[in-house]
This record gives sequence, structure tokens and C-alpha cells, in this order.
Amino acid sequence: MAAQSPAELDEIWEKEHVSKILPSNVRHRDLKAYIEGLKKTGVKVAEVGRSFSQREIYQAEFGKGPLKVFLWSQMHGDEPTATSSLIDLFTILQKNRDKEWVKRIESAMTIRAVPMLNPDGSEVYMRRNMQGLDINRDAIDLKSPEAQLLKKLRDEWSPHIGFNLHNQGALTTAGPTAKQAAISFLVVYGDAEKTMNDGHERNRRLASAMVQSIESYIPGHIGRYGDEFTATAFGDNFSAWGTPVILIETGALYGRPEMFLVKLNFIAIGTALKALADGSEKGFDPARYELLPNNSSGRLMNVIFRNASILNKAKPNEVTTADIGANTERRRAEFLSPTVIRRIGSLTGIAGLEEYDASSFYAVGRFQPLTSGSFAEILFYKKDREVDWSVADLEKAVPPDAIFSLGKWIRGEGVVPKK
Ligand SMILES: [Zn+2]
Repeated sequence: MAAQSPAELDEIWEKEHVSKILPSNVRHRDLKAYIEGLKKTGVKVAEVGRSFSQREIYQAEFGKGPLKVFLWSQMHGDEPTATSSLIDLFTILQKNRDKEWVKRIESAMTIRAVPMLNPDGSEVYMRRNMQGLDINRDAIDLKSPEAQLLKKLRDEWSPHIGFNLHNQGALTTAGPTAKQAAISFLVVYGDAEKTMNDGHERNRRLASAMVQSIESYIPGHIGRYGDEFTATAFGDNFSAWGTPVILIETGALYGRPEMFLVKLNFIAIGTALKALADGSEKGFDPARYELLPNNSSGRLMNVIFRNASILNKAKPNEVTTADIGANTERRRAEFLSPTVIRRIGSLTGIAGLEEYDASSFYAVGRFQPLTSGSFAEILFYKKDREVDWSVADLEKAVPPDAIFSLGKWIRGEGVVPKK
């Protein structure tokens, strides 16, 4: 049997992927260019509906087999990774139709995918649609045109399996650890009682196949998403309506670019399709999925300054020693991401993606006193310096040893030592 290994999927993605824009920077016009590219390679693509603001929503199709596989991405506008993966997937399948593994997929199944279900939200990089509705809480009310469309695409076709593609917070961890959950999976039940059925069991095996395909790339960084039943969400209702769903949530991995996670999505989804096509999914042990650590939160921050002597210029005699923890807000890659102080105090038991030992420094707010909720704009002064804190323009009059601004060192990098 011609197995398409993760390494081979990796290689083919590296050679042939067409997603050249960082996913978080992709606008609807970029999606349209990707769609034109798909059409040129011969992929069947149709406009299947419009968003609230009349932006086109597309569905791509590949294959002519009886098994019906449906995927959709970016129903939350600021969750873009898998949109790029889907464009790459259809491009690569279409261009490799002469290969044995693709022929098998083509004859075993028909794949339909909606990349970017929420183009209005994507345009302004927000979760909700232009009516302010969370499409993923609109599966029953169907007040948004995007939810109506998604329901219609399912009901008219009754796919055998669904893939619901999202992004989760960068600080989500795999289990009670400080390891970011770079990707999390959930095999979604169709009811609160967690009723098992054949489709659900097949999806557990498929999830195991996907975990196996990427775990050597990100050992310890794969989680399982929470499985509470959400009565108004699409994944849960698709499963209830007869299309058992696998949820894939892409997080982040410190030091790794967005495109790396596009590739991992491609490898995982490609592996699932291949395993469905050649029947090898039946050989996967669901335990690999079942034993994933549950997603966890509250154990990780973007940056922590340990044991800083926090000084307020207005009251220089009241110095408090504490840890400062700050998190970076989610923005498009092309925009500066504000970093905001979220905790001041003892952060024992919480890790930082970056940690600094600030014990030899005064930390002073650059524009305003350092408090929870203020921007992490921080001046660092060595504690053995004599500083007149009352001068008018402190930063100019008494240059600090280091300045942390917009999530990075703009002066004196390395002066405050890394932990
Ligand atoms: Zn989401």
C-alpha cells in the first residue's frame, strides 16, 4: 500500500504550497486571489453565498467518490490558519492527480470545503460577523446569513464527516504544564450525554492518525479541546444532525512562524484524508487521541519580569517588589501587537514564554504608572544608580539602562538578564 507519510506530505507542502501571505494578514481580496489560483489549476470552486456585508463565500470541491467529507474554516474572523491550509490542500491534490495516493482519495471521496466562512469578520480581524453575532453560537437561531449558509450546505449534502477549523489562544497549554498547545483536537459529540456511535469512533481513530502525523514536530504541544456540549455551536449540532465533526484548534508555538502551523494543519488533514481513502484509519488506536492532555489555561503568560522593584515616579519612596506579567493581544502580523500588564504580584506557578530576572532593577512606567491593565511600557534602571525621579522628562533626562516597549527591548537588550 502506497502510504503517504507525514514526511512526504511535509516535502510536498514545502515544494508546492501557494499560501504565501501570513494567514493573519489574509484579507478577503487575498482569498479571492487564492480562489482564482485554485480555478486556474482546475479545482471546482463556486460562490455559494454572501456574508452580511455581501462578501462572496466560496466552496471548493475535489474528488468523485461516495464518502462525503466537509471542511470549513474561519467562522471566527480572527482565526485564520486553516484557511491557508485548505487552499494549499486543494491546490496540491489537484496538481498531483497522477499520484497513486491522490487517485485513491479522488475515487474514494468527495471533499468540499468553505475557506473563510466569515469574510466580514476576517476583514477587520474580529471573531464575530458584521451583525456582532458569533456564528458558532448561531447554529439553532440562524440569525446570520453565514450560519444559514453553513446549515444549508450541510443539510443539502449530508456529509459523512466534518472538520471544523479554528484557532485558540496562544497561551492555551497542553495539560497543566507551561507547554503551549500548538494544535488541539476534539472529536465532537452530538449530545450532552456523550453518546458514542460509529462515526464518533471512526473520528477518534482519525484524530489519533492526525496526532501521530504531527507529534514528532511538536512533542508535548498537542492538547485535547474541552468537550462540554454547547447547544448552539455548529460542531455539536453537525454531529447531532448526522455529520460527526472533528474540531481542530490551532494555537501558537513560541519561536515558530504562522506558516509552520499552516503546514502542520496540511499534514494532519492530508493524513486523515489518506487514512479514510485507503482504509488505514481502521488500524489506528483511538487511545492516542484519548490520552491527549486536556487544554488548560492560566499557567502561561507572554512575558514575566521577576522580582522587579516597581517604582511610581510620583511616590518614589513606596517601592514594591513583585513580578510583572504581561500578555500580547492577538493582531494581524502586519500590525504592532500591544502588550498589556495583566498581573502584578507573585507569579509563582505561572511561566512566561519569556522571563527576565529584574531583581537588580527599578521598573518604572514609561507613560503611566505600572498597574494591571496598563501597557507594558517599562523603563529599567539599575538599582545602584542615583536617580532624581522628579525630573520632567525622565527617559530623556536620565536615560534608563533598558526599555521594554511593544513586546520587545528597544534599548539595552540583554541588560535585564533572561531567566
Ligand atoms: Zn473559533
